[in-house]
Amino acid sequence: MRIVKSPRRIQNICGELKRKGKIIGYVPTMGYLHKGHLSLIRIAKKKSDVLIVSIFVNPTQFGPSEDFKKYPRDFRGDRLLLENEGCDFLFVPRIKDMYPEGYLTFVNVEKITGTLEGAMRPRHFRGVTTVVAKLFNIVQPDLAVFGQKDAQQAVVLKKMVDDLNYGIKIIIAPTVRERDGLAMSSRNKYLSKEERKQATVLYEALREAERLISKGERSPNRVISRMTNMIKKQPSAQLEYIAITDAHTLDLLNKLKGEVLISLAARFGKARLIDNIAVKVN
Ligand code: AMP
Repeated sequence: MRIVKSPRRIQNICGELKRKGKIIGYVPTMGYLHKGHLSLIRIAKKKSDVLIVSIFVNPTQFGPSEDFKKYPRDFRGDRLLLENEGCDFLFVPRIKDMYPEGYLTFVNVEKITGTLEGAMRPRHFRGVTTVVAKLFNIVQPDLAVFGQKDAQQAVVLKKMVDDLNYGIKIIIAPTVRERDGLAMSSRNKYLSKEERKQATVLYEALREAERLISKGERSPNRVISRMTNMIKKQPSAQLEYIAITDAHTLDLLNKLKGEVLISLAARFGKARLIDNIAVKVN
């Protein structure tokens, strides 16, 4: 596995690979890799000739009071995992090369970035779309894999790729969970033992929502209130939101119909966790 720091260098390497007709598969990450990341990497590996993974904790997607500085990092561990996965290139740009002094250009997807996570984290998605647009221009992948764990991010990035004619195939991979259902996340590291135990309520509440819907419930408010009650029973949980939206447009629903996305965010101590499930309602 070659480790490349310079955007210009990896861009040249990728340009050359493309001229040779190689299919480039790409997985952007912020590192501190877990099995969720590895599942994306395996999908990309299977579908490409050359696998590129990047690790970049992107400052522009963090708010001023968020965890940018404290975000967990483990370059050595990540490098070993990626070598084991047969990653060909690990791209680890420096902040000053991605955002040199005087940097002025941002990519913004409108409307669907103002709800859910976007409502809680202003400018978060502007940072995500900007960095992914830059990374796509640098790596020039044929396909890129993202996780359903960040459901809104997946919808936003697909829209950006369509609207800006990137011609990159976006693959969304299912959420990988711990045995007790907690969605894997680099931020789970922030949980104390007790908080970790209580955090399983998030997936339990999502499963309960699924169960209610399968039994015929069609009122989003009733589903949300049941979920809220469950989560509030955990003393460490501070619920930020539960929302039920159309899975594709992210519009809030007043009646459950079609493909719906149930998403939520909650804090447990220092950790802000998000999770979601998609449910087909007939
Ligand atoms: P991050 O390093 O948190 O920016 O995540 C990099 C990619 O991994 C994103 O596309 C995430 O959606 C995806 N991802 C993170 N956690 C999981 C998970 N538990 N299952 C599947 N994909 C995930």
